[in-house]
Amino acid sequence: MQPAVQHITILGATGSIGVSTLDVIARHPDRYKVFALTADRRWQLLATQCLQHQPRYAVLNDASAASELTRELRKQGCNTEVLQGLAALELVAAHAQVDAVMAAIVGAAGLLPTLAAVQAGKKVLLANKEALVMAGGLFTQAVNKSGALLLPIDSEHNAIFQCLPNHRSDYLAGGLVSSGVRKILLTASGGPFRNTPLADLPHVTPEQACAHPNWSMGQKISVDSASMMNKGLELIEACWLFNTRPHQVQVVIHPQSVIHSMVEYIDGSVLAQLGNPDMRTPIAHALAWPERIESGVASLDIIATARLDFSAPDLQRFPCLRLAQEAADVSGTAPALLNAANEIAVAAFLARQIRFDQIAQVIDHVLTRLDAVEPTSLAQVQSADAEARALASQLIKSW
Ligand code: NAD
Ligand code: MG
Repeated sequence: MQPAVQHITILGATGSIGVSTLDVIARHPDRYKVFALTADRRWQLLATQCLQHQPRYAVLNDASAASELTRELRKQGCNTEVLQGLAALELVAAHAQVDAVMAAIVGAAGLLPTLAAVQAGKKVLLANKEALVMAGGLFTQAVNKSGALLLPIDSEHNAIFQCLPNHRSDYLAGGLVSSGVRKILLTASGGPFRNTPLADLPHVTPEQACAHPNWSMGQKISVDSASMMNKGLELIEACWLFNTRPHQVQVVIHPQSVIHSMVEYIDGSVLAQLGNPDMRTPIAHALAWPERIESGVASLDIIATARLDFSAPDLQRFPCLRLAQEAADVSGTAPALLNAANEIAVAAFLARQIRFDQIAQVIDHVLTRLDAVEPTSLAQVQSADAEARALASQLIKSW
């Protein structure tokens, strides 16, 4: 039997994940219809996407970009309605006609629209890991209350999800240990600076940091991968997604990025998910789950892969990973402080205002000076986020 057509909102349609999502959706017009596409300000690409997918709504964060898009779409005879701003992002995330929301805005900007989708009980395909890092507890409560289905897009978490038992409700209620899981092995490529001499790290450029050996991604996550903050954020993400504690998650360097993560059970079995490093695999998996659909990803040539290497991460080389592990242990608003300081530091590094090694210094400064609390409201998370941003910016200005 043909499944009913699903209506999809893509938050962050013009980004790396957004573009890959539209690629998968375009392969299955019988299954998926785009309901809304959103972006920050890149209206030209959004216009092209609207002309191809004919969504009901297009939303831009930036007001003048929204006017440009409206003019362009009218000129082309496209009926997509253009909206602007945060309330519009929340509207298309929570709209009654939407079945699934791809949450692929980068950074803290994605928190409120993603939460709106969760509160409306949608199937939420979560790429925006920062939202869960900032407000994991409140996010999880909202999922439980609304009955939203949260499916991981991050390749590691999607791999872990595929290797975990099918009875999600068991481990979500009782924790991974109760499902016979000993630990999660979270793999990391080690990024472009895995073997760079330590003395050279202060001199690396944004271009070098963004040249990831295996994955093509947005700028912010590329820098996070180079500093391994990305793996730190993913550690925190895994704890919330799979109801586990940081000590049950072991970070493993695996430079080939063929194994996307593993799960070890108490009987000694280790299950892994393998594939080419192409985000269309986890996107297609989550879109169709529990079914399987074509993603356009090439077949994995295991013979050409030839070897798979593993090593432990060097915390001296990657202090951001250590800082994230510490924030994960402290919990409460510590991950929100870490995330906010990191966003400010990464933006300053990309703008050539600070050196690569100063990213960790900014985060350390913020985490040492601001106390974490156990947040009971979103306002507390947002104020931790704002305080951390202010302190990080102040330090950067003083340099
Ligand atoms: P990207 O920079 O390529 O795209 C970001 C998208 O968010 C764009 O569409 C942009 O317009 C939108 N956006 C940015 N700021 C916004 C704002 N203030 N308001 C509204 N929209 C805004 O990023 P990406 O690489 O696609 O990553 C998106 C998310 O997915 C990130 O959280 C990242 O960590 C996660 N992720 C990405 C990959 C990957 O392969 N790219 C893999 C795993 C997880
Ligand atoms: Mg990842």
